[in-house]
Amino acid sequence: MLAKVLCRSFTAHKPPVRIAVTGGSGQISYSLLFRLASGALLGPHQPIILQIHDLPMMQQALRGVVMELHDCAFPLLHDVIATDVQSTVFTDVDYAFLVGSKPRGPGMERGDLLKQNGEIFVKVGEDLNKYAKKTCRVITVGNPANTNCLIAQSHAPDIPKQNFSAMTRLDHNRALSQLALKAEVPVTSVSHVCIWGNHSSTMFPDASHVKVSGNAGHAKFTQEFIENEFIPTVQQRGAAIIAARKLSSAASAANAAIDHMRDWTFGTHGGWVSMAVPSELYHGAYGVPDGLIFSYPLTIDGSGHYHLVRDLPTNSFVTEKLRLTIDELQKEKQEVQHLLKK
Ligand code: NAD
Repeated sequence: MLAKVLCRSFTAHKPPVRIAVTGGSGQISYSLLFRLASGALLGPHQPIILQIHDLPMMQQALRGVVMELHDCAFPLLHDVIATDVQSTVFTDVDYAFLVGSKPRGPGMERGDLLKQNGEIFVKVGEDLNKYAKKTCRVITVGNPANTNCLIAQSHAPDIPKQNFSAMTRLDHNRALSQLALKAEVPVTSVSHVCIWGNHSSTMFPDASHVKVSGNAGHAKFTQEFIENEFIPTVQQRGAAIIAARKLSSAASAANAAIDHMRDWTFGTHGGWVSMAVPSELYHGAYGVPDGLIFSYPLTIDGSGHYHLVRDLPTNSFVTEKLRLTIDELQKEKQEVQHLLKK
């Protein structure tokens, strides 16, 4: 089924940018789509076309979302295409936000989630390869995000590997915020923080290089605080939000997805961000083997190319944390080996 809604006529001269969002009637999309349409990603002068996908049984709900987008009369929203056909959603897109995936149900093991969602991402990769622009930038949000991204990327050989990423920006933002709260400073005063590895409880939120207002460290960031409060709080924040809201984080996840893509497009002006990207781009740096989608500290230049922050000093604590998250990602990869294109 294809519902096409033409939004109000648009007078700007820039050609519109096409943005695909999957899982369009879900929680994250209910925030993400409206922020995208308001210009939060590409600014107030860039018209966009939203191409939104969800399953056939979700089309009625998706129609409601499209009606609401229409009712906002966003000046930048040139067109909305809502569909259950994946080839349509990816046609000619410049950006792909891969949000659609099955949530973990009661009694479901992580392995079941890996398998079921992994299968979704085989077709996603194939369709991106066939229909998206070869310059398309992809962010994988649906969990298990790193391994889903690996599967999609393996099925899209015509799109450069470096255009595939998985989201650890929510964890990065959580880390910045926890440190700012502890130091009692604005979040903008905290920098040089990163997330290593998998978007899961083995991720390593690393404050070893933190700066507050440009100065290294802070008296309140004791080893005791870092190990017993900061790291577990960031690692378990998703579960804490589910316990409080009875629903997983949605607005903050949508916000992080936009932060991730905006910085990837416009650059970080020397600042560090965390993104999970193909490890073979960095050939064993920090002991990470090739063939994983791994979160690193990156800077992004003004042309939208990301660069690894290299030669950071490590110690046995850091090495052990990295080993745990590398091991988990390798295990996940093993479990979905049959879904990866050789
Ligand atoms: P949700 O359940 O509200 O929405 C998911 C959407 O995906 C639904 O509309 C559903 O119909 C769709 N979907 C399900 N199976 C599909 C399939 N086979 N093909 C296409 N679409 C399908 O979930 P949500 O809260 O929006 O979260 C979406 C995903 O993002 C989840 O996997 C969640 O765990 C993940 N997440 C990731 C992060 C992160 O930091 N990387 C943060 C929060 C949530």
